Amino acid sequence: MTRLLIIGPPGAGKGTQAVRISERLNVVAISTGDIFRANVKGGTPLGVEAKKYIDAGNFVPDSVTNSMVRDRLSQEDVKDGFLLDGYPRTSAQVDELDSILSDAGVELDAVLQLTADDEELVVRLLKRAEIEGRADDTEEVIRHRLSLYHAETAVVVNRYQERGIVRQVDGIGEIDEVTNRVLDALEQSV
Ligand code: ADP
Repeated sequence: MTRLLIIGPPGAGKGTQAVRISERLNVVAISTGDIFRANVKGGTPLGVEAKKYIDAGNFVPDSVTNSMVRDRLSQEDVKDGFLLDGYPRTSAQVDELDSILSDAGVELDAVLQLTADDEELVVRLLKRAEIEGRADDTEEVIRHRLSLYHAETAVVVNRYQERGIVRQVDGIGEIDEVTNRVLDALEQSV
C-alpha cells in the first residue's frame, strides 16, 4: 500500500487523516489544497492565479492543477509512494493522473473514500473558519464547494470503483477512531 488517494467532501477530514496515514505507511502526503494555499501566501504567479478560484470555492482550472501535480509527482521523494489528498477531483484529472502514473510505470494501490453527511460538514467547516480563518470557509462558499464535490467528484469515485480499488470509510467520529478505520480498510485490501 504505497500509492494511495484520499477522497472526500470538504470538511471530511482528508488532510488530518492523510498526514496520520502517511506517517504510519511512511509515504509522502501531498495535498493540492495545501500547495495552492502556500502559493497564495507566497504571492507566486500560481498563487495569484489560483486565489480567485479558491476564494469563490471553485476548482482551479485543470490545466493549472494538472501541471502542478505532474511536477510534484516527478520529484524524488515520491519514488517509493505517496498519499494524494485533493486530487483528482474531476474526470479529466483522473485521465491526467493515469497518464502520469503510467509514464512512471506505477499504479495506484487503493483509493480511500471518506464519507460524511453534508450538514455535519457545514457545522465542522464553520467551526474551522473560526479557528483558521480560511477565506473559503463562509457558509455560502462551503455549500458551493459541497455541491461541486457531489457534481464533479462523485464521478471520480465511480471511475475508481469500476477498477475495484475504492475503500469506503465513515469519516464521522473521533479522529483516532477514523484513523483506525482507515488503517483497517487498507489492511483488508492487501
Ligand atoms: P476542501 O476539500 O476542504 O475544499 P482543499 O484544501 O482540498 O479543501 O482545497 C481547497 C481549494 O483548492 C478547492 O476548493 C479548490 O479551489 C482548490 N483545489 C484543491 N485541489 C484541487 C484540484 N484537484 N483541482 C482543482 N482545484 C483544486
